[in-house]
Amino acid sequence: MAGFRATQGADRTVTTIRANCPTCGDVQLRAADLVVRVCSDDESGSYTFRCPTCAVAVAKGASKRIVDLLVSSGVRMEVWRLPAELSEARTGGKLQPDDLLDFHLLLESDDWFAGVEAMVRRSPSA
Ligand SMILES: [Zn+2]
Repeated sequence: MAGFRATQGADRTVTTIRANCPTCGDVQLRAADLVVRVCSDDESGSYTFRCPTCAVAVAKGASKRIVDLLVSSGVRMEVWRLPAELSEARTGGKLQPDDLLDFHLLLESDDWFAGVEAMVRRSPSA
């Protein structure tokens, strides 16, 4: 269960959100102190904030209900996508220590980028 609770002040203008810092425990935040992040690919949600006491960055998963509560409390929402690389077809063998050594040697040349481009052009999946 997410560790936050939103309460409105008596003047109904300031919403206080109580969230949980792993170091400090419960901390009081305003809506502007948090960001809700929703992944458009798998619809997973999370919220992030910087602890006002110890300044650690905190990120926690959030159910759709928590996301809706935070957004209705005025928290800004960001929508993000999974990196396109995750859906790329993978070909070839696993990287081996020799591959890393070859790459290290390649990077020592002045025209290493042209060398990498040439290898990609030769690759059957390119
Ligand atoms: Zn803290």
